[in-house]
Amino acid sequence: MEVPVHVQELLDALRAGGFTACPVGGCVRDSLLGRVPGDWDLCTSARPEQVKQRLSGRWRTVDTGVAHGTVTVLTAGGPVEVTTFRVEDGYSDHRRPDGVRFVASLEEDLARRDFTVNAMALDEGGIVDPFGGRADLEARVIRCVGEPAARFEEDALRILRALRFAACLDFSIEPATLAAARAAAPTLCRVSAERVFAELDKLLRGAGAGRVLAESGDILAQVIPAIGPCLGFDLHTPRHDRDLWAHIARAVGLAPARRNVRWALLLHDLAKPACFALDAGGVGHAPGHAARGAALARQILADLKAPGRLARAVEPLVRWHDTPMPQDLPGARRWLGRWGWPTLEEMVAVKRADLRAHAATAVIRRRLEEADRFERLAGEAHRRGDCVSLEQLAVNGSDLMRAGVCKAGPRLGRLLGAALNEVIEGRLENDPETLLAWAKTQKN
Ligand code: ATP
Ligand code: MG
Repeated sequence: MEVPVHVQELLDALRAGGFTACPVGGCVRDSLLGRVPGDWDLCTSARPEQVKQRLSGRWRTVDTGVAHGTVTVLTAGGPVEVTTFRVEDGYSDHRRPDGVRFVASLEEDLARRDFTVNAMALDEGGIVDPFGGRADLEARVIRCVGEPAARFEEDALRILRALRFAACLDFSIEPATLAAARAAAPTLCRVSAERVFAELDKLLRGAGAGRVLAESGDILAQVIPAIGPCLGFDLHTPRHDRDLWAHIARAVGLAPARRNVRWALLLHDLAKPACFALDAGGVGHAPGHAARGAALARQILADLKAPGRLARAVEPLVRWHDTPMPQDLPGARRWLGRWGWPTLEEMVAVKRADLRAHAATAVIRRRLEEADRFERLAGEAHRRGDCVSLEQLAVNGSDLMRAGVCKAGPRLGRLLGAALNEVIEGRLENDPETLLAWAKTQKN
């Protein structure tokens, strides 16, 4: 296993002081998987004061959580967290330990970690793996260290971490671990909105997100209550060959792993149960679910304390997910002018994943072709730099006033809007002479 130089130097410095020190957790897991670790965490027998004493001559250190044993060392390769071997005592709030206790052995420290694949360290002698993490990595399984019910009871965040690692690593969750997570799901109300959001956000972008959502809807309904009514909800239409939650999960899994797109798909149909009615023929419809879903999406993201820019990006994706896409160039230009190309690309991605998660009927195939055609028309307009907005129009208000066509006032705005419309429709070239000449012929 390749330990980067900036990490090895810290290990050497601590070991030269007679302490045990090893990379631990996610970096060991990711290295064994052949992935490049995002960050390297170290654990050590040295107490925080000893860590600082050993290292502060050569590196700057930050007291990140000295009471919990963590010192952050600022190295040339980036910050590295160094944490003293510890165990955690009492979890009366199902989230944070009441206190931590420093311990002498690496094995005790590994035993407090959440999953076997996260409970390995790299000692001088090689991998330390007391809980079978390597075998679980090979079997691609997320399994609690120790008794799952007790581990979720201690810290409810681990329930979401289990789902998140299963999605991101594309692993399955070992049955006893999943059953215990399910049983402990009501305790998720103790986890802060920010932590829930952070886990869901990672989960959603995982390669296994669709599968994990499908199998854990009841768990997720504890953090997003609007999921509850979707579970097992029969849409009573030949367009759907699965229940509403299964459709949503499948749509997420089929979409590119882009944040806005996957969040939009998670939320896109959550208002369907509230809008649902059967027609005289016994076929289900959910009129207004997209608009209502957009409002619901905003509310859910606000409750989760999600970044405002995510909510602003997701809202139109949900609101317009069910609207037919324009099939002619002027229509495509209008959408381009209204939302801009990055949002249109996301709209197309949402549309495709949503459609592909339906039953493969002729109607659905036609709509998919419509999405392709819209993407081509709007994409070409974007790449050509077609005029789709007043800012791109070759004349502005002052040009029209200077040419004596019109005075300042509401008529000026109407005239510019009408000129843009002519250009979008392809009836006028977007050049100043053409537009001025045309404007002079306009009565209103
Ligand atoms: P990544 O950084 O890729 O999200 P990671 O495994 O490094 O994954 P971190 O949240 O950085 O996850 O935590 C580092 C390590 O600390 C984990 O690998 C695990 O051993 C332990 N750990 C983190 N959170 C918990 C928890 N809630 N309960 C028990 N152990 C935990
Ligand atoms: Mg980490």
